[in-house]
Amino acid sequence: MAGLFNSAEDSLAQVVMLSNGRVFPDYESTELGVATQLAIKSISKATGASRRAVEKKFTSLGDLGLVVEHFVSDKKQSTLASESLTVGKVFSVFKEIAKQSGKGSQERKLSLISSLITAATPLEAKYVMRTLLQQLRVGIAEGVIRDAIAKAFDVKPESVERAWNMKSDFSEIAVIAKKYGEEGLKKIKLEIGKSVQVLLAEKSPDLKTALDSFDSPAVEWKMDGMRCQIHKDGNRILIFTRRLENVTKQFPDLVKYVQRGVKAKECIIEGETIAVDKKTRRPLPFQVLSQRIQRKHEIERMVKEIPTRVNLFDVVYVDGEQLFEKPLKERREILEEIIKPSSEFRVIEQLATKDLEKAEKFYNDALRAKQEGVMVKNLDALYIPGRNVAGGWLKVKPTMENLDLVIVGATWGTGKRSGWLTSFVLAVRDPDTNKFLECGMMSTGIKEKKESGMDVTYEGMTKTLKPLVEKEAGGIVKIKPKIVIEVAYEEIQKSPTYSSGFGLRFPRFVRIRNEKSERESETMERLQKMYDMQKK
Ligand code: AMP
Repeated sequence: MAGLFNSAEDSLAQVVMLSNGRVFPDYESTELGVATQLAIKSISKATGASRRAVEKKFTSLGDLGLVVEHFVSDKKQSTLASESLTVGKVFSVFKEIAKQSGKGSQERKLSLISSLITAATPLEAKYVMRTLLQQLRVGIAEGVIRDAIAKAFDVKPESVERAWNMKSDFSEIAVIAKKYGEEGLKKIKLEIGKSVQVLLAEKSPDLKTALDSFDSPAVEWKMDGMRCQIHKDGNRILIFTRRLENVTKQFPDLVKYVQRGVKAKECIIEGETIAVDKKTRRPLPFQVLSQRIQRKHEIERMVKEIPTRVNLFDVVYVDGEQLFEKPLKERREILEEIIKPSSEFRVIEQLATKDLEKAEKFYNDALRAKQEGVMVKNLDALYIPGRNVAGGWLKVKPTMENLDLVIVGATWGTGKRSGWLTSFVLAVRDPDTNKFLECGMMSTGIKEKKESGMDVTYEGMTKTLKPLVEKEAGGIVKIKPKIVIEVAYEEIQKSPTYSSGFGLRFPRFVRIRNEKSERESETMERLQKMYDMQKK
């Protein structure tokens, strides 16, 4: 890959982006929006194969990349290749596809995609298709791209990593590394509007262990909501989730809070947004708020229906100054200075103590208020952006913790459940290979009919998962690993049936975790750890 980057010349940025299986950086809210059916139609249009033939091939191969490769090579034997594809051309058509919206957009996307297929060799068609369907994302670990950039342009992998934590966009970083080397990477700073990788929490077995871990700990409630990274530059305000998705459009109420409640001209602050009851203003579970995150229409009505409250807990940038290098204690003081608190937008309450009894009372208050538990934070810790960094935050929650697992398969129901996906195959991630290993089959906890606003139904699940179906045979479907759900269970057992070697006994659906990406699901290592803990 380093060789490829090295020889990419003017198309370096695009080559890096495509190698990462992406067309746009994470922080842009642009999407290609190509679903399976549209892809099938395009293959048929471009190669002249009937739609039925394409569908049939898809059922047997389970990968539209392979399907298009097959039909293009069939066709190429009889026709001469027309103009050849370049990275630049592919990229500009991808951008064009993403731009299409509204009436007739499906038709226009169809002709754009088939024009690409027509110009492609069989191998090119395979990868174009997988990129369009965003199926290249799983499998290429971020570390590989980081190391390839380091090798290609003779810079340190750590410097690339540091830059990535600030910018979350390898294509831009590669260009800087090539042009300005190590010095250039060092100069990379936060930019308002480009999301920053966030500080993550580790789990602590109990409150005492957590308090003992730090010289000066402080305890905060762990709220059951959505993490948001708020960027403000004068009147330009942007809201990102923890997965760095831009959700500004869905949360005009948050934008207003920031306009009214932030004194700084420019800043990047972080907090947890929760849903509150519109009459009593009591906190509601994340599942309620999640309806707001997905919402694309009638946003104003939803704002009234499900009001929010933001509990701010950190700040990484204020008026030109980066604050990563300051300890939490100082960052929090700065945060308090720049916020004009109100009932819906305020700095989260914090109890700085090493006293177990006081902390326990605080913890119990949190559980009584139906929050998840507490975060114990090290007041001396710097903000280290990026995944899985130790030493800053420890979360404490009640034990036999539920697992966040990824759905990788399902079966079609029969009888009165026909037409719905019913049993779901659960998996953990193996960070070494980036593969998902199965660890159970779940069919409990999902409802046939909605009884309360928070219920997730089979119909709802089917709607969510259907666009992610990769392969289908005999009522069993393979699903692209994307949807993370929280699962409760009785016990973890050793099991030869599942590829992880473990199986969950009585897994039960708790909720969909929209705020988590498949990369943030439980790992193989943690499953093993939980198994060991349970034996004790
Ligand atoms: P987890 O997702 O279980 O690893 O816990 C980390 C998440 O807890 C963060 O990403 C936040 O979304 C959320 N959270 C809730 N309350 C707080 C808090 N007081 N400080 C930091 N994170 C919090």
